[in-house]
Amino acid sequence: MSFATGLICRECGTTYPAEARYSCDFCFGPLEVAYDLVAARGVLTRASIEAGPLSMWRYGALLPDPGEAPVDLGAGWTPLRRADRLAEELGLAELWLKDDTRNPTGSFKDRVVSVALSSARRLGFSTAACASTGNLATSVAAHAAAIGWPSVTIIPSDLEKSKIAMAAIFGGTVLGVEGNYDDVNRLCVELVAEHEDWAFANVNLRPYYAEGSKTLAFEIAEQLGWRAPDQVVVPIASGSQFTKVAKGFSQFLELGLIEGPAPVLFGAQATGCSPVATAFAEGADVVTPQRPHTIARSLAIGNPADGPYVLDELRARGGDCGSVSDEETLECIGLLARTEGVFAETAGGVTIASLRQMIRRGTLDPSKSTVAIISGHGLKTLDVIVDTATVSATIAPTLSAAEAALAEFTLAGAS
Ligand SMILES: *Cc1c(COP(=O)(O)O)cnc(C)c1O
Ligand SMILES: [Zn+2]
Repeated sequence: MSFATGLICRECGTTYPAEARYSCDFCFGPLEVAYDLVAARGVLTRASIEAGPLSMWRYGALLPDPGEAPVDLGAGWTPLRRADRLAEELGLAELWLKDDTRNPTGSFKDRVVSVALSSARRLGFSTAACASTGNLATSVAAHAAAIGWPSVTIIPSDLEKSKIAMAAIFGGTVLGVEGNYDDVNRLCVELVAEHEDWAFANVNLRPYYAEGSKTLAFEIAEQLGWRAPDQVVVPIASGSQFTKVAKGFSQFLELGLIEGPAPVLFGAQATGCSPVATAFAEGADVVTPQRPHTIARSLAIGNPADGPYVLDELRARGGDCGSVSDEETLECIGLLARTEGVFAETAGGVTIASLRQMIRRGTLDPSKSTVAIISGHGLKTLDVIVDTATVSATIAPTLSAAEAALAEFTLAGAS
């Protein structure tokens, strides 16, 4: 049973029923899902959650009503790994990785899509759509395929080949737009007006979509033994994941499921698309749009819808936002893989490189418990590493050739 009561405007507080609506009639502010936490208090308990399914839907009480059953490929309940070897490299006392590479289509987007399409089905839609930097298209196409819906996913045409293939394999319509994500998004806002019977996960269904990211916070808290970490590093594209991770921790606190204080959240962006990091560093109130140019394509949103709310959260809680080069991103994909056996896409490299940067400049406290969200699998962005991650040596199939090569590349203790 869901404690969601409907939608509420984040700017003026006007409330609406739980329908396919995403902006306020009075002030055009964004809408979000509201909950009756007073009713949930004491009913929703650690024990009631622990009795739920081993998926993100164990937190269904704090998600929008999915109707009869959620649209679910098994998103969420991903491992929270203690990362002592990486922590030692970075000089951190206690580091955990929230390993969201392990979702059905390899990124955290499966969480938001599971919620968006569940709400869409409950509201009577039967076509799924989205504007995407790649991962969302894959997740929407996969979840739509699983329930027999057609899908229309719209992406920049110059995305990584691996991402385009992953979106296309599920059989939906994939439109490649000659432009960047911000062009794609603008087009989708126009398409929503023309195709009111299409459920655009992150446009007309956006309030429901966004709620899925809260489950990252819920899982982190539960997997730490019902405890909030001190600090969490979150990658930022539109800023939706960041703001909803904050909302998730604050709902758990309000319900008494964890003790305070809430964790301090830190952002992670690539310098080639860093509108939030730039506004934060400059002390600006508005986020100035940028034209993205970075290998971190999944984070390449130059005009982030939730940017102002991210800035508010960063400033209110003493956070910071990293801004890292593509070289640092590649280096940290390797560092994470070598130290922890976790293979992340570029967004994960941005997150680890940002973590390292914020430790170095003294804004992230290395003595405190820290969680880094690794939001997508490395197989999604193979293109950026295939030329550098190669065989150590190419040899003839003979023992002597192998021994000669091994003498050059001897592994410690392997002789
Ligand atoms: C979409 C995405 C994000 C962040 O998205 P928001 O728009 O900020 O919610 C982070 N990592 C990956 C891999 C993504 O695909
Ligand atoms: Zn309003």
